[in-house]
Amino acid sequence: MIMEASLTAYIDDNPYDMLAGETVLAFVSRHLDGRVIPTLCDSPQLKPFGACRVCSVEMALTAGGPTKVVAACHTPMQTGAYIYHNTKRIQKLRRNIIELVLTDHPLDCLTCEVNGNCELQDVAARVGIRDVRYPAGRDHLSTEKDTTHAYMRSELSKCINCSRCVRACDEVQGEFVLSMAGRGFDSHIIKGIDASFADSDCVSCGACAQVCPTSAISDVFEAKSIEATEKTRTICSYCGVGCNLEVNTRGNEILSIRGVSGAAVNNAHTCLKGRYAFKFYNHPDRLTTPLVRKAGELSPVSWDEAYDYIAEKLTSIRAAHGPDSVAGISSARCCNEENYLMQKFMRAVVGTNNIDGCARVCHSPTALGMQKSFGTGAATNSIKDLELTQFIILIGANPNAAHPVTGAKIKQKIMQGIPTIVIDPRVTEAAKYATYHLQLRPGTNVALLNMMLYYIVEEDCVDWDFVKARCEDYDEVIAQLMALNLDQIEAVTGVPRAQVRDAALAFAKASHVMEFHGLGVTEHSQGSKTVMLIANLMMLTGNIGREGVGMNPLRGQNNVQGAADMGVQPHQGAGYLDVTLPESQKHYKTHYGVDVPDAVGLMIPQMFDAAIDGTLKALWIMGEDVVQSDPNTRHVQQAMEALELLVVQDIFLSETAKMADVVLPASSFLEKSGTFTNGERRIQRVQRVVEPIAGTRPDGQIMCDIMNRMGYEQAGYDPAIQLEEISRVVPFFAGVSWDTLGDDGKQWPVQPDGTGTEIIHVDGFKRGKGKFHFFDWKESPELVEFSEVYPFILTTGRILEHYNSGTMTRRTSNEQIVSEDLLAIHPDDAAVHQIVDGGKVRLFSARGEVTMTAQISQEVTPGILYTTFHFPDIMVNYITGDACDEESLCPEYKVVAVNIEKA
Ligand code: SF4
Repeated sequence: MIMEASLTAYIDDNPYDMLAGETVLAFVSRHLDGRVIPTLCDSPQLKPFGACRVCSVEMALTAGGPTKVVAACHTPMQTGAYIYHNTKRIQKLRRNIIELVLTDHPLDCLTCEVNGNCELQDVAARVGIRDVRYPAGRDHLSTEKDTTHAYMRSELSKCINCSRCVRACDEVQGEFVLSMAGRGFDSHIIKGIDASFADSDCVSCGACAQVCPTSAISDVFEAKSIEATEKTRTICSYCGVGCNLEVNTRGNEILSIRGVSGAAVNNAHTCLKGRYAFKFYNHPDRLTTPLVRKAGELSPVSWDEAYDYIAEKLTSIRAAHGPDSVAGISSARCCNEENYLMQKFMRAVVGTNNIDGCARVCHSPTALGMQKSFGTGAATNSIKDLELTQFIILIGANPNAAHPVTGAKIKQKIMQGIPTIVIDPRVTEAAKYATYHLQLRPGTNVALLNMMLYYIVEEDCVDWDFVKARCEDYDEVIAQLMALNLDQIEAVTGVPRAQVRDAALAFAKASHVMEFHGLGVTEHSQGSKTVMLIANLMMLTGNIGREGVGMNPLRGQNNVQGAADMGVQPHQGAGYLDVTLPESQKHYKTHYGVDVPDAVGLMIPQMFDAAIDGTLKALWIMGEDVVQSDPNTRHVQQAMEALELLVVQDIFLSETAKMADVVLPASSFLEKSGTFTNGERRIQRVQRVVEPIAGTRPDGQIMCDIMNRMGYEQAGYDPAIQLEEISRVVPFFAGVSWDTLGDDGKQWPVQPDGTGTEIIHVDGFKRGKGKFHFFDWKESPELVEFSEVYPFILTTGRILEHYNSGTMTRRTSNEQIVSEDLLAIHPDDAAVHQIVDGGKVRLFSARGEVTMTAQISQEVTPGILYTTFHFPDIMVNYITGDACDEESLCPEYKVVAVNIEKA
């Protein structure tokens, strides 16, 4: 909404500036204490509703003119209007309203001391209600609590029918689980078709509990939150959305978590992982002492002994085999400062560029592809641009499961009628609502995108002004596109060309298009190429460098963007400087004080191969469970077994840690400070909530300790100190400091004066001109080699309730909601193989086999199977293969040749 600050209106006859378009409530709250007008049905996260009228004020349009009583929450301000917010008439009206509201509520409410979160009690006190003159209106409603859900609770006798919960479910999450049934005194909230929480479609985001003013709907942690003595603002450590969390604590105990109201990223919204899945932090399984393998067993030792052991072994391996016999895998779950220290340790202390991170198994093709097309591998725009976009294209991403808060925003836009293309082999949540669902065969993204590009050129829907002014190599690419054999590419994708044409032309004709993609783009043998074709699409239609457009990869892990920014890759150091260039080496030497290596190091799959062939002797892994999460588990295990030294830092004894020679107990994100960078380049402060669990240390402190132990003088772990150093080393962090980041952080590049950047490539691309690329589609080598014997295509992904290898979420009540990985099978395939829903299936590939529970589902097409990989007792990665993106070596998790039979 556009607002201008040149208008005047009056509060109690005093003049104040007024913004065009603001409501009376916003106007008064902006100038006086926000609490002077009491509200009940209003909530800052929701649209104005105007039902309860507690926010009533008197309004006159001229000085001394007649006044009218209006609901402040939804009445627009008018220039020159006079607002009287607390007259005797208004006070009386509010008292009457609250009295009537209280008849719908247990009448002992006013003396109830149990729930300190009751907003109704607070409003009643503020308007001066001490008792109620009327009899109870709804005492027939059951006082029974709904305790069926792992996190959500309801006790509807406390409900005052303000509809906040219904509106939160609709307007914030877009789930439509809650609604109002009955009339008059019989009106009441229902879940689904009058189900319990557990039986409804509730996705446990907690938005209803967050807005309920009476705790008629609450969560299991809410009652405890009144005991909180401290609130700390920090950042969720699950996905790359980067939701801001308010953590309630008492001493060293975490009582509850809520979304931060007004936060730029999530304005109070979260998903169930961020809000509820925190109990892992003090789970009895937490590692609390360093372990060193002695006589084949991991045995507890002191930190000093562990450090001595590592330093001695690393020094001798390095002396005997050279620095490149050592490698490190850093962690996108850890802070920027910790990743910076890890890569600095490898480069400045060990002397190798053998440093990589989990982006290798998710978005390395995005970074590589976007760098080749634009010069920078990061999202071009901000999520808030969704407010301005006119068209959405979602490719290989299921944000409602993997990036739930952004997913909910996208779903809201689709439901509001913004035309949308979903390109995905599965019927995802967004695909159910999309205008066009291009349900392609897995592994054919390149073919489908080429078809779209073809039609955009053929129908002359190209933004030639943009292309000619800002791009290069388009003539050759267009010529190659026009020579494509459409019969062939239509056949390989399985999507009718007319449908692709309609979608492509709608896309090209829209004025503002936002693109989002996920691992369904990158985890393919042609992943990097697909990314560059998406860049072609966006450049060809001029959808870069403005508000409401852009190419926006949905980064998986909380800090996968930051880890890469900090130099966690073997070819580029901190700030993406090419390690092979003399000027980069000079730059790093200036800041590190030592020479740095100039040869490109090993990527993760190359590290495994080097371990097996004996050239890699030592591997240090910070917070990554490669045994469970990397493909072809047996191959990874072989690599781990072949090492002379495997050091693992983690919070739990993961499948990888079980194979380590040294295990170092790390602190979780709730026990340390630092920064995470979310998927829209927003650097945000992670603030320590509780003291580290006894015996653990922050990953950053461990890195500092070992650097000092190996003779490199490194200041101890303090994010303010490391950020100061990073701001000198990483050019686009120039104006970043701990003290000035502020509550909502800053989006890089951050200028030396501290100004952040919401949109990049506005006037030109980082590389100068945007570069067009052409690639022809190629069948996945996995299918070429194995599909005759293994005729099904397995594709893998995540579910909402669990996160990656499930190390954290499996140690929370999320386990009660989903407790195993399921294999989705189309009913036709299930019938052929006599497999029933809930029955056991043997799933096997050229690498191995697992037995899983079947889920008969129309979400997949015949011949396609889908599963997740959250549970180590199934270890789906026993059957995934070695095929990977040709350039970035990102594994092809999305296309695995398999077969099934009834188990
Ligand atoms: Fe955390 Fe992502 Fe959920 Fe937000 S959407 S609460 S960042 S997991």
